[in-house]
Amino acid sequence: MNTAAGRHTAEVNIFTEMSALAETHAAVNLGQGFPDSAGPVEIIEAAVAALRAGHNQYPPVPGIAPLREAVAHHQRHWYGIPVDPRSEVVITAGASEAIAAAVLAFVSPGDEVVVLEPFYDLYRACVSMAGGTLVPVRLHEPGFRFDQAALAAAVTDRTRMLLLNSPHNPTGLVLDEHEVRAVAGIAAEHDLLVVADEVYEHMVYDGRRHHPVAAVPGMWERTVSISSAGKSFSVTGWKVGWATGPADLLSRVQGVKQYLSFAAGTPLQHGVVRALACPDSYYEDLRTDYQRRRDLLADGLAELGFAVSRPAGTYFVTVDAGPLGATDGLRFCRELPRRCGVAAIPNSVFYTDPGAAGAQVRFTFCKPEAVLREGLRRLRRGLRGGW
Ligand code: PMP
Ligand code: GLN
Repeated sequence: MNTAAGRHTAEVNIFTEMSALAETHAAVNLGQGFPDSAGPVEIIEAAVAALRAGHNQYPPVPGIAPLREAVAHHQRHWYGIPVDPRSEVVITAGASEAIAAAVLAFVSPGDEVVVLEPFYDLYRACVSMAGGTLVPVRLHEPGFRFDQAALAAAVTDRTRMLLLNSPHNPTGLVLDEHEVRAVAGIAAEHDLLVVADEVYEHMVYDGRRHHPVAAVPGMWERTVSISSAGKSFSVTGWKVGWATGPADLLSRVQGVKQYLSFAAGTPLQHGVVRALACPDSYYEDLRTDYQRRRDLLADGLAELGFAVSRPAGTYFVTVDAGPLGATDGLRFCRELPRRCGVAAIPNSVFYTDPGAAGAQVRFTFCKPEAVLREGLRRLRRGLRGGW
């Protein structure tokens, strides 16, 4: 392991730290993004049935055939992207493994990888394990907007990859069609690979749609698209994800993946086959339900005095605790469980320079409404008189 990788992997991960603090203080955990209950019961039953039916040995490295077919169908059904399930889908141990395998497959020491900042913390660790350099492009305030010119300016002759995340964790930004085309144009002009982390693809609000970069004409050939059953079906502990893309790119992703997990979760892969058979109404209900919870949490936090950036997608809301008197989001989140009985995530972990996050904090709304209300009640009580 090179020194850079060691630096980013030696510390305890923020999600582990904050979930442990939440437990110690019996706090309402609005930090790590995991729902309190799973999706439709049929999904669980399908996984149980697979266990009982004896599907308990290694799956094939690229995943069981019915799941690859189901993922290919999903891409065609939702986005009109034709995908060959035999050579253009790889099932992974969560989206995390797909991202790691894609980065390790294509990034060599000295290569640059451009990301929108703030960025999901896994990206920095993976790029650093590959010996590459992360080049952040700051989403600008107010509202974490995407700046096409800044993205274009970040590309150098060492840039190998754009690692794009929309809907975006932690800000909730959803790139519109025009912005996705702009990203595609930059990638094509500079002959870059795009790794598109689309795990929140079904969580987009206010009538918006998710626009996969792979659907832009000419982009399929240079894009690896990644998603996860954990998010869409509320089974984050299953760790079943996937990558789709052209066979020449996916064979390289699979080549790395076979030396990471080899393959994982045979019975759970069967459960996800059932999940992907859900009717469109399942996704519509998911969206409506999360949008209601978003409004509940975002409105509640605004009432308490946080500066709220209302997310267009994902199940996270980023706020600035500065108006309450906080200056350091990490310190705020380390104290919040004890002081208020609520846990959150400091956005400082999503920046190359943690200081740039100021008092930005991320709360999740993937919890039942009663839990969100209780979290807000505790915050109201604990924050009386400011921070
Ligand atoms: N990308 C993003 C943006 C995420 O928020 C997550 C969730 N932790 C992942 C990837 C990883 O997904 P998985 O749990 O399926 O590995
Ligand atoms: N992606 C989830 C989040 O951002 C969980 C991350 C994790 O636990 N590794 O909260």
